[in-house]
Amino acid sequence: MDIPNLVNAQKQFFASQQTKAISYRKAALQKLQKELYKREEEIVKALYNDFKKSEYEAIMTETSIVYSELKMAIKNIEKWNKPQKVRPSILNFPSSAKIYSEPYGTVLIIAPWNYPFQLAISPLIGAIAAGNTVVLKPSELTPHISNILREIIEAVFDKNHVAVVEGGVAVAQELLSLRWDYIFFTGSVNVGRIVAKAAAEFITPVTLELGGKSPCVIDETANLKLAAKRIVWGKYINGGQTCIAPDYILIHKSKKQEFIDLMKTEIKGAYGDNPETSEDFPRIVNTRNFERLALMLENENIAIGGETNKEDCYIAPTLIDEPKLDSEVMKGEIFGPILPVLSYETEDDIATVISKYDKPLAFYIFSENRSFANKLIGQYSFGGGTVNDTTVHFANHRLPFGGVGESGIGGYHGKQTFDTFSHKKGIVTRGTWLDVPTRYAPYKGKLPQLKKLMKFS
Ligand code: NAD
Repeated sequence: MDIPNLVNAQKQFFASQQTKAISYRKAALQKLQKELYKREEEIVKALYNDFKKSEYEAIMTETSIVYSELKMAIKNIEKWNKPQKVRPSILNFPSSAKIYSEPYGTVLIIAPWNYPFQLAISPLIGAIAAGNTVVLKPSELTPHISNILREIIEAVFDKNHVAVVEGGVAVAQELLSLRWDYIFFTGSVNVGRIVAKAAAEFITPVTLELGGKSPCVIDETANLKLAAKRIVWGKYINGGQTCIAPDYILIHKSKKQEFIDLMKTEIKGAYGDNPETSEDFPRIVNTRNFERLALMLENENIAIGGETNKEDCYIAPTLIDEPKLDSEVMKGEIFGPILPVLSYETEDDIATVISKYDKPLAFYIFSENRSFANKLIGQYSFGGGTVNDTTVHFANHRLPFGGVGESGIGGYHGKQTFDTFSHKKGIVTRGTWLDVPTRYAPYKGKLPQLKKLMKFS
């Protein structure tokens, strides 16, 4: 595919103003919706073929999220796009003031492999709703989904409006060498840096949805049984390959053993005696990631799990008891079904561990002590989080979803995705029936009047 030609054609199409019409955008979203409903079975199958993701998880964590984002965009597009009136400044009297949403133009979306459908289509919905033309690059590590995404987009859109460009690093780099009006990237911190550098060349605005080492703190007041149940769900869903999965546990020393025992029961309850035979437990996406994760298990005190099968990229839901802070598993984001359990006695112990890492994407607190939870929320910087559960803040589209520091720049979901892909243009319309002379030269004698006016502004 001639990528520069495609991008130029999209820029020309954007310049034709067709995507500015709300009716055009809405019709495009409706067409997409129809096609997605029609092909749900194929999407679910592709997810299974890529990493044995179960039908249930495919619907819960991929298609249903996309459907709800689509429905919301179709229903609210007029409202979201309507210029928003704000109070005029007295200094501009008489005037009115409004914020207009305008599409950036031609935007690039680069998606990861771990929720390869949802994390490609969700930003795409906002980009289309906001009136942009879009090039979407899915991850090469989930080829079945990459292929079906291309087929769907080709069936629904003219390529001058929306196109899928498939490929790996070389293709991504070629795309990044071009001039875009916005880049939306989801993936690792290291590639995020490459994207930010490429964007800097043209001062292109970016959203970077990255990862990090997300802590899960459990104090001595927590409902441990429920904590174990909710942690098993949030950690091992998608085979632990979730950007906001709890990365490690920090639990009060007095509760550690009880917690480990409860985790054993919950893992068995969810995936049976041998999770390898469970229909609900996905595989690691490829051998490279399998090997990276298998290395983390070496010379550790495995409390639960630890079994692996390289042929099948299988790693059991695993708990590591008290790894050292300089061990392989505590070096960076785990991104797999391995959960280190560290214990603390004082709040200083908590701070020692958490402050070792950059600002994480998520933070979880299990506690019945509100002031403890509030203290941690105030003390640490992180993308977002949940008290007494894991990962579910993702599910509320009224909350911004995104990172801070090394876990990312910007946020999206619901209306915020529309806003992410829109430049906000401030417009003042002056009345012509009065022209207050204060601001005009000559200034002599006007300073007291100006000072008085400034007091009211
Ligand atoms: P990745 O960074 O390896 O790949 C993401 C995308 O970047 C892919 O499309 C890939 O082709 C492309 N890419 C890879 N190397 C590149 C390079 N050198 N130059 C240009 N593009 C390149 O990430 P991944 O392995 O697909 O996903 C895992 C990471 O993504 C984890 O760190 C996870 O935390 C993060 N993640 C974050 C979110 C979020 O919403 N914040 C969601 C999912 C995943």
